[in-house]
Amino acid sequence: MANPKRKLSRASRGHRRAHLALSRTQLVRCTHCGVMIRPHTICKACGYYRGRQVTLAAE
Ligand SMILES: [Zn+2]
Repeated sequence: MANPKRKLSRASRGHRRAHLALSRTQLVRCTHCGVMIRPHTICKACGYYRGRQVTLAAE
């Protein structure tokens, strides 16, 4: 089995992990009620998705 010749230093390990941070979840405005929601999801406030009510929501 191929094996690394020596242990990776803390610096090298850190350099590799510098690109692993998670990005913030993006928010878009609901076209019906204007509340900020995650893209491609039903609006929790009004139950609308793509200009059409798809779930019952407290109004
Ligand atoms: Zn909405």
